[in-house]
Amino acid sequence: MLLGAIADDFTGATDLCSTLVRGGMRTVQLIGVPTPDTPAPEADAVVVALKSRTAPVQDAVSQSLAALDWLRRHGTRQVFFKYCSTFDSTDQGNIGPVADALVDALACGFALACPAFPTNARTVYQGHLFVGSALLSESGMEHHPLTPMTDPNLVRVLSRQTEGSVGLVPFAIVAQGAAAIRKAMTALKEQGRRYAIVDAVTDADLLAIGEAAEAHALITGGSGVAMGLPKNFRRAGLLGGHDAGTLPSTPGHAAVIAGSCSRATLAQIGFAREHMPVLTLDPLETPDADALVAQAAAWAAGKLGATPIAIAASAGPEAVAALQAKLGREQAGALVEDALSRIAAALVQDGVRNLVVAGGETSGAVVSRLGVRSLRIGAEIDPGVPWTYAEGSGPALRLALKSGNFGGRDFFLKAFARSEA
Ligand code: ADP
Repeated sequence: MLLGAIADDFTGATDLCSTLVRGGMRTVQLIGVPTPDTPAPEADAVVVALKSRTAPVQDAVSQSLAALDWLRRHGTRQVFFKYCSTFDSTDQGNIGPVADALVDALACGFALACPAFPTNARTVYQGHLFVGSALLSESGMEHHPLTPMTDPNLVRVLSRQTEGSVGLVPFAIVAQGAAAIRKAMTALKEQGRRYAIVDAVTDADLLAIGEAAEAHALITGGSGVAMGLPKNFRRAGLLGGHDAGTLPSTPGHAAVIAGSCSRATLAQIGFAREHMPVLTLDPLETPDADALVAQAAAWAAGKLGATPIAIAASAGPEAVAALQAKLGREQAGALVEDALSRIAAALVQDGVRNLVVAGGETSGAVVSRLGVRSLRIGAEIDPGVPWTYAEGSGPALRLALKSGNFGGRDFFLKAFARSEA
């Protein structure tokens, strides 16, 4: 294992995986802290996906250390701590405390911190994080329900989360390239800084930062700063010429399960109706998981064949609000997630081997119902959404787990066109 990563959420982990696959690294995503007896997958990079972004600090730290322990026991050469490109955290944590614990455990004394992701318009200049042309604190993130970001200056933000001291590698140095960045980071470390926020405005900056961090035991940041890492391993002769994105084929039926109510997913379902049978469940009329599962089973019987099918609970804002008013917000979500995950399991039982799931929470529910703990990452269908292959004891199965807002209108068709290719 060349690179072992710890990601503070599931879709962020997948995003990092895709970046590494694009760089030519065979990458596997593990869901949750692996048990001590979990064998190391055959991969250049392993990304452990935690759900620690908003967990209590002590939980986030202990899960991260447990993941680190497993990664080190399997010989990882470098460790990456992945957080959100908008540095989602509160003054109580968790980025600082988790990074502190990792720096301590690795006895490396120093780590860079760079959440920049120019492709998604997240840039860092003079330590300030921008979303598009707005400062982080004026980007809407200041109203985030769980992690409101009211200070755009990451040197200050990280300083409030750590007892270590935080320096800056400013853009003027980053623009000079890898050697200058390396020198600046070494100087900061010698001055006793534990962290350096590193400015980055373009992908070229991220590549230079990655190169400069070649010898670092620990790198922290968004998926962007991982872009330069595969090249380091290749230069050192450690990365073979494998085709990183190739997955085993999974002959069988194809289906979509949609629980996202985002605008993008609703448009994708609308488009799919012209090309495949689509069942829309109405949890408002039938607020009963058993009945919804039975309805889906009766509808799907005889439909699984050469063309994909889709089963959706997705609905517009009024219908969602109506169900939430009836059951309460959490109960409404739980009912639909329970029904959809059971429907997904039944479809797999009936021979579906290529399954697209729309919705972050919905994906979490499906993966957990299927008992999937390990996903090999394939090529992207649309930016940020790769096909994955579920490794483990279950049937050979490909999953595409789509965060609601991702993907173009034809995403479902594109996914299956690719899975058959
Ligand atoms: P996204 O990635 O778009 O946020 P999620 O799956 O994370 O999608 O969240 C969508 C939530 O909405 C899930 O909890 C899902 O169960 C719930 N949901 C789906 N359909 C309905 C519906 N018709 N009424 C109410 N809630 C729904």
